[in-house]
Amino acid sequence: MEDCYMERLEQRIQKDGLVKAGNVLKVDSFLNHQVDVALLEEMGAEFHRLFGHKPITKILTIEASGIAIAVAAARYFQVPVVFAKKSQSINLDGESYSVKIESFTHQRVYDVIVSKKYLSQADHVLIIDDFLARGKALEGLIALIQAAGATVEGIGIAVEKGFQGGGDAIRARGFHLESLAIVERMDEKTGQIYFRR
Ligand code: 5GP
Repeated sequence: MEDCYMERLEQRIQKDGLVKAGNVLKVDSFLNHQVDVALLEEMGAEFHRLFGHKPITKILTIEASGIAIAVAAARYFQVPVVFAKKSQSINLDGESYSVKIESFTHQRVYDVIVSKKYLSQADHVLIIDDFLARGKALEGLIALIQAAGATVEGIGIAVEKGFQGGGDAIRARGFHLESLAIVERMDEKTGQIYFRR
């Protein structure tokens, strides 16, 4: 697989990322609360460089924090963004595909749905998300795409925490997964963040 990392994103994580208890990396100042739109645009361009040769018809992400990155990427791909919705109660009307996803940051299980109107067999989908940890969110999104009979063309992640194993498991299943920054190790005490090369 081609070696890919985005230097400017790594530098920003190094400068502004905060290492919290429980292996959580906070990037609220530029990605998850306040958003640096110029950086997001660069990330969108990078995803297009990596996946632009594929016949992508739709970008799929999950609410809420994936949406901004997915929208930035979609401007380059010129395709719609669909964001899977987290719902409290499962919708049994048959109009939606649904899966259960265990949230890493909130430690609870959500029913996540996508309307059948917005995902079909004809779709070639690029999945985009902000973080990849144990891979539960991605596994859920892949299952939604497969339930629709659509094709997973690739997966683009902003920040992968490589030491939590989700990314390697998904690559081992044969999916084309690219992360713009892969954190290999982080130290809660010193705040140091080390990247994979
Ligand atoms: P996974 O399902 O791969 O275990 O976790 C991925 C999801 O959890 C992402 O959609 C992201 O919202 C959230 N997440 C996991 N780890 C982190 C983290 O260290 N920082 C932040 N901000 N979100 C995370």
